[in-house]
Amino acid sequence: MGKKRAGGVGAGGELEVIRQIRERAGAVRRGSGLRLGIGDDCALIRPGRDEELAVTTDLSIAGRHFRLDWHPPEAVGHRALVRGLSDLAAMGARPVAAFLSLGVPRELAAAPDRTRPSSKTSWVDSFLNGFFALAKTHGVPLAGGDLAESPVALADIVLVGAVPRGTALLRSGARAGDRLYVTGTLGGAAVGLKRLAELNNPEVSGPFSDEEWHDALSPQLHPKPRIRQGLALRRRGLATAAIDLSDGLSTDLAHLCEESGVSATIQSELLPLAKGATLDQALNGGEDYELLFTARPKTLVPRSIAGVPITCIGHINEGVADEPAVMIATGRVAVPLEARGWQHFSKT
Ligand SMILES: [Mg+2]
Repeated sequence: MGKKRAGGVGAGGELEVIRQIRERAGAVRRGSGLRLGIGDDCALIRPGRDEELAVTTDLSIAGRHFRLDWHPPEAVGHRALVRGLSDLAAMGARPVAAFLSLGVPRELAAAPDRTRPSSKTSWVDSFLNGFFALAKTHGVPLAGGDLAESPVALADIVLVGAVPRGTALLRSGARAGDRLYVTGTLGGAAVGLKRLAELNNPEVSGPFSDEEWHDALSPQLHPKPRIRQGLALRRRGLATAAIDLSDGLSTDLAHLCEESGVSATIQSELLPLAKGATLDQALNGGEDYELLFTARPKTLVPRSIAGVPITCIGHINEGVADEPAVMIATGRVAVPLEARGWQHFSKT
């Protein structure tokens, strides 16, 4: 951040925005691993001896991953960072540094946020408020990035984490006989998205209490990355495989099965549905950012980790070629579960 000259962003100009970002980045306490942050041509990262770096990148685009007219900017900043942190959690990695590249339409850079008439801060400032609040919670410093004027608002986030060599939780470790678990509840983000749509539809009227809105919207606007749970699963050697639920259980479980060369059966009555969520939202809604993991049948998996409940939702079977990888059972009747979570470039 700082060496690109992409033309002024808004009335404050790119340099002013970057100055503010740098100031705020400096306020987040550094964890171990980041040697040099914003200010030079590159950041310098030195993982601990016997550590590996875990690196992930996620793109958030207005109109695809969030809606400017629905999602408050601080929620967009929070969610952009969650996407990266959740990937680190799924590997059991400790966050070391974040890199953020922002593309911002001119009118969102300096002007007060017009999506919220009472707001005096710009969309970018509010985005950064959400981003830095979560960064602080997890002690992950912003170590660099880029800023450019763009026809569409977008945030590209890179997260670097560290994990002791050879111990990262992989998608590929599940074996027949393993039990299947999830953290937290499922479908809450989909319920929140539906509520956001209702909020923005004048034909759907409340009245809902503030508390009710907050409860319903928060899994969508402020999902919690399960960093502590991922670290605990790795450190205690509980999980054989793990993935985070970003696209939806049906799709993400299929990814895990494919990488492990196994199949899986979910028991529908065991699924921990979020308040108000349907089975379909729990299976296909996506954006819950919970962890899905497998453990050997003899492993004693705790009922909760750091206050977040852990639920056994099914088991892993041998993979059989040409047979569906994921089944869903109600009682003893099992049917194939189609991967109907989030997919870019899909026909539906
Ligand atoms: Mg992931």
